[in-house]
Amino acid sequence: QSAWAGIEAAPPDPIFGVTSAFRADKDSKKVLLGVGAYRDDAGKPWVLPCVRKAEEMIQSKQYNHEYAVQSGVAEFAKLAAELAFGKDACILQHGLNLTVQSLSGTGALRLAGDFISKFYTHSKVIYVPTPTWAVHNVLFKISGLDLKHYTYYDPKTIGLDFCGMCESIRNMPERAIILFHARAHNPTGIDPSMEQWEEISNLCKERKLFVLFDMAYQGFASGDLDSDAGAVRKFVDDGQQVALCQSFSKNMGLYGERIGACTLIAQSKEEQAKLKSQMNFLIRHMYSNPPLYGARVAMHVMGDPELRCQWLEDIKTMSARIKTARQQLVDGLKKAGSQKDWAHILNQIGMFSFTGLTKEQVLKMTKEHHVYLTMNGRISVASLGSNNVEYVANAMHAVTK
Ligand code: PMP
Repeated sequence: QSAWAGIEAAPPDPIFGVTSAFRADKDSKKVLLGVGAYRDDAGKPWVLPCVRKAEEMIQSKQYNHEYAVQSGVAEFAKLAAELAFGKDACILQHGLNLTVQSLSGTGALRLAGDFISKFYTHSKVIYVPTPTWAVHNVLFKISGLDLKHYTYYDPKTIGLDFCGMCESIRNMPERAIILFHARAHNPTGIDPSMEQWEEISNLCKERKLFVLFDMAYQGFASGDLDSDAGAVRKFVDDGQQVALCQSFSKNMGLYGERIGACTLIAQSKEEQAKLKSQMNFLIRHMYSNPPLYGARVAMHVMGDPELRCQWLEDIKTMSARIKTARQQLVDGLKKAGSQKDWAHILNQIGMFSFTGLTKEQVLKMTKEHHVYLTMNGRISVASLGSNNVEYVANAMHAVTK
């Protein structure tokens, strides 16, 4: 009998499953709007010019390939923390942050999840928004936390249910853990306004919640690095001891290089040193230490003044193209004759649009029009371009009229 007798297949991944179905489709008109990866207007992956230049720089430096320490490349982590919290942030000036390099955003979430599960003694319950990125719904449970949901999205308005969200927070037990998407909420593309974040921060303080920010789209969302970090900085200014997970997948286009950072905040330098030793211990026994290449690229992009300028331009290029694609889609829908109100597509931000298509309509999009998207009606706007936007608009109109 096999050592694995009795094993069952894991549930299919809702996002990668869409890609497999797309690959199996032989129709030449097929379009994939599932995975969140930036594409240029012609539908091709885009290596950011700032990244190309950083790679040349790395080549010329002739680095060796010795092990990194558990926390990764120190200069990278320092620059990542400054990027998120702002160079002058008090917590950085006082050395209260522990920022380690992580295996991109997902790896940062796993480190945070495991760390919180082990050392945050006040609660084991983490609240995530409804809906949220599918990985959140599983990862924290694997870390040993209890997963619950808070109200976020209102299907009636295809917008934020702010009252419902506040009500949910008011009803949370004191000191519970809550996860927020820092910017460009995935899958909805709908964020609270800065005024709303202020209220949310106050409520979290009232309930003494432990706040974990997932920031996967800094700069990619609006084209402005500081503005996209607004919510995180607000909470930190309010004196909240947040945890932060950063990803450089989207804003540097470094998806496969797996580069991100995880930050915890201590209340004293002594406590910071203890956090650091426990985090290093955790990493040592999980994957020992992280890979160097992505950290080197990101470090040069952030740290070299010329490359940083180029980067600011590159993120503007990406966010502007996505905005244009949103407009093209809405224009296309009108041109196709749709009478429906599609304004939410323009108002949403980031990689994704929650179209409001129902499951039945999504199935029709795929079956009749060979357009692939997740069942919740989410499309990756970054995959729309001049070549396919009219076709997609026509398909959307056909299934919604
Ligand atoms: N959080 C959210 C909300 C995301 O959308 C993503 C990217 N899809 C991530 C985290 C992390 O992705 P990665 O591991 O590639 O950095």
